[in-house]
Amino acid sequence: MDDRRWHSLTPAAVGDALDVDPTRGLSAAEAARRLVRHGPNATRERPPAAAIGIWVDQFRSAVVLLLAAAGALSAMFGEWPQVAAIGAVLLINALVGFVTELRATRAMEALRALGADTARVRRDGRVAAIAAADLVPGDIVLLDGGDIVPADVRLVQAASLACDESALTGESVPVDKAPAPVAEAAVLPDRASMAYKGTAVARGTAEAIVVGTGSATEIGRIATLVEEAEPERSPLERRLARLSQQLIWVTLALAAIIVGAGVAAGEDVVLMAEAGIALAVAAIPEGLPVVATLALARGMLRMARANALVERLSAVETLGATTVILTDKTGTLTENRMVVDRLVLPAGEVAIDYRDRLFLHDGAPVGPRLQEAVETALRIGVLCTNASYDPEFGTGTGDPTEIAFLHAGHLAGLEREACLTVYPEVAEYAFDSASKRMATVHGSDERYLIAVKGAPESVLPECDAVLLEGAVRPLDEAARARWAALADDLAHRGLRMLALACKPAESPATAPYPGLTFVGLAALHDPPRSDVGEAIRACQDAGITVVMVTGDHAGTARSISHAVGLADRTARVITGGELAPLATLPPEARRDVRETAVFARVSPEQKLGLIRLFQQAGEVVAMTGDGVNDAPALRQADIGIAMGLRGTQVAREAADIVLRDDAFPTIVAAIREGRIIFGNIRRFATYLLSCNLSEVLIVGLGVIAGLPLPLLPLQILFLNLVTDVFPAFALGLGEGRANVMDQPPRPPREGILAGRQWRQVVGYGGLITAATLGALVVALELLALTPGEAVSISFLTLALAQLWHVFNMRADTAPLWRNDIVGNPYVWGALVLCTALLLLATYLPALAAVLSIVPPSADGWLLVLGASAVPVVGGEIFRLGRRILHAGAVERERRA
Ligand code: ADP
Ligand code: MG
Repeated sequence: MDDRRWHSLTPAAVGDALDVDPTRGLSAAEAARRLVRHGPNATRERPPAAAIGIWVDQFRSAVVLLLAAAGALSAMFGEWPQVAAIGAVLLINALVGFVTELRATRAMEALRALGADTARVRRDGRVAAIAAADLVPGDIVLLDGGDIVPADVRLVQAASLACDESALTGESVPVDKAPAPVAEAAVLPDRASMAYKGTAVARGTAEAIVVGTGSATEIGRIATLVEEAEPERSPLERRLARLSQQLIWVTLALAAIIVGAGVAAGEDVVLMAEAGIALAVAAIPEGLPVVATLALARGMLRMARANALVERLSAVETLGATTVILTDKTGTLTENRMVVDRLVLPAGEVAIDYRDRLFLHDGAPVGPRLQEAVETALRIGVLCTNASYDPEFGTGTGDPTEIAFLHAGHLAGLEREACLTVYPEVAEYAFDSASKRMATVHGSDERYLIAVKGAPESVLPECDAVLLEGAVRPLDEAARARWAALADDLAHRGLRMLALACKPAESPATAPYPGLTFVGLAALHDPPRSDVGEAIRACQDAGITVVMVTGDHAGTARSISHAVGLADRTARVITGGELAPLATLPPEARRDVRETAVFARVSPEQKLGLIRLFQQAGEVVAMTGDGVNDAPALRQADIGIAMGLRGTQVAREAADIVLRDDAFPTIVAAIREGRIIFGNIRRFATYLLSCNLSEVLIVGLGVIAGLPLPLLPLQILFLNLVTDVFPAFALGLGEGRANVMDQPPRPPREGILAGRQWRQVVGYGGLITAATLGALVVALELLALTPGEAVSISFLTLALAQLWHVFNMRADTAPLWRNDIVGNPYVWGALVLCTALLLLATYLPALAAVLSIVPPSADGWLLVLGASAVPVVGGEIFRLGRRILHAGAVERERRA
């Protein structure tokens, strides 16, 4: 059959054609067979990056070009060992970069697989969540607001369904959908009976038959475009790359000036050319991009292990600068294991004891009269739902609020399947967080029942009657107000309140809400997570403000915020109703809003407004969201955090990170990790740049002072590509300072290298230069060595000084012998490895010849060791001096 005709067939004909009964779905065995036949329903698959591509990429940098130019120049002068060595260095550099990047890429691909999409399907008569990739034609999928449609599907049933098809058609207004067949000639945007893979369910719910999967979908036909998109580079990597780029130009200019001046002063042209090459090689931190890639990839892996999946690399950098977290309540601060705690019915209050499976009134099991009232109330909850519940395992799929009703109904002997045979569902008015209520229509032949549940304040006003002892009685204004007050009161005790109501109807098209009969209140309970209190305290120590923003009732919000230590019992709660248009607020009122810790009954648009308000005050805002309406707010936030368990796919697509466990403490762990990664990157960037600066200064000053070239180009390459890279790697893998979360967030605008880091680069670069040039002069003058021997001394001094310099990268206040660098095993590994490599370079004749190193005498080694310790000792003296000055300043301040 032409698969493009599905929209014009009836749902039954589609079911027949695909050999499936929509009420049962495919059998597992049949689904497996079809999966073999049709292949996986690959969603947005990015083909794994080819190793060969990564290898080629290694040669596409300016550094390589520069080295190649240096090689060509050497060839012109006939320096063949140098040419060979440059070739070898190029190869080693590419190899290190290749291995690192390949591993990082593979790790990221594995992470992406963790975040793979799921779909709800009916198979063998049961609803289950499966990987979207396992869908096959004929599968019956259940769609809900916020889902991304997992395949091309033909609708069988739909309730207020609308899809955002902008991914496919570019049209951003959601299109209404319904199962009725449409004309065969209808073009894609007009095929209202179909929903297409990759589009988003903007609202409503539906059941549908999968008619196309993988590349046989509409988006599959055009998707190659999307799939081949370049992998994203993080802004951080881009900035590092730009820094390297700029350094190249600065260096070239500098080299040209020095060489030009040298030649003009009558220096030997060959020597000057060598100096120029050395300078050019010296200035570029070749290791920087590789180390950055490694540090980011490892950080992401660690975050994933802590249950935070990074969807956008930029999040890693921003996380550490987060100053405000806007968090929702349900599931993030609470367990999201909703249970119906009690029912408040006109006939009396009934508590539910789940352990003994009892309904209790005043501590005793309910009598038959109340039992009937309980069943009537719970039947509404069991009918008016999109969730499913499996009593065997005590688990369900769908909205936890709705699962709670199915669970309680099960205790009362009400199973959804059985209820539906008496009251088949014919229509649904889906829940959305703006109206805060939903309705389903059940029955047949002019005898229908409309079941409604929702927030009391949106359901009670529609009720003009109340059900008591099986009879419908009028409900007057005063009684309504009493019920509303009761609901309010319970909400203040932290219970999530829903009102249950129903009414008879003659037609399935009857407006569902006006003229309802009130049946009772249900109070749901969702206990706060036990680990949240500690995480909130950690945020307070870290200078991060935590604000609760929830759609729930003010009373519930306040009660939970008190329980987790976010605010005290009397703290002000602003509700959505009180939030005037935020954009027009006067400054004092804005400050007031920013100082509020709890916002309740907030709509998704108001979330967006709140984020802007905080951002305008210079805050870096992280915000959690789960609903389809949260997507704009998630995009607006500096860090959008989606929920992996209960979040919608639309929210996930909009987010920067996804929490696999939905838990607030995971956010705090991710922020901690973000700070560590940023700190590490800052440290190895400072480290590498101070090493490079020292090399430039040594060569430049050496040439100006008329000394023999203190470092040969190949020696510099050896340092930059071999001995600097390993300590930098080790810094990039650091565990972070113990107190990362005891400090305020980094100022948002501060780059990788702020003023302090630049001062360190210059200060330490200068110290290393002084030590190396000093050693060279002593070697020439005091030890009276030949230039070749003396240059070996200055090379070894520099190499070792750079190794020890890694200890300068510790926190300012940490003692030399006890800090996270001394405690980092990678640092020691790098030092041992690099020292061994240096000894090889000195004593292995072949290598020594290429690097022009003459093994020093015992005196020489003493000089090398002594001089190479200067930067660390100097750094220590500098710190000591600053501490004394600081203490003096404090003392003076105290006196004044
Ligand atoms: P939040 O998830 O932040 O608590 P929601 O928008 O989900 O906010 O819920 C707001 C209110 O809507 C709840 O307090 C409850 O009264 C009502 N509500 C929530 N879920 C449902 C549902 N599935 N059906 C009917 N009413 C609901
Ligand atoms: Mg909710």
